[in-house]
Amino acid sequence: MKSNYIKKIDMICPFCKRKIFEYDNKIQNSIITCASCKKHFTKKELLNSNNRNIENNFKKLGEDAMKDLAKDIKKIFGNSKYFKIKI
Ligand SMILES: [Zn+2]
Repeated sequence: MKSNYIKKIDMICPFCKRKIFEYDNKIQNSIITCASCKKHFTKKELLNSNNRNIENNFKKLGEDAMKDLAKDIKKIFGNSKYFKIKI
């Protein structure tokens, strides 16, 4: 099983579906501007509009982690005559 499941999730502009944004990272809660269509968002607005995208990524991440865990369990106990593994 991998020890690191950190994944970068790209934010998508709800208007033009592009993934490039401009913001000033020196200012906390600075306004985020889409580099393509120039719409402005707060961080919260952008996160809200990407909710489904983020949820899908986390779901996939959980499934991948479970598959890896199942493989590890099979590897460790698979050849044991004392354990029967059914996954
Ligand atoms: Zn845009």
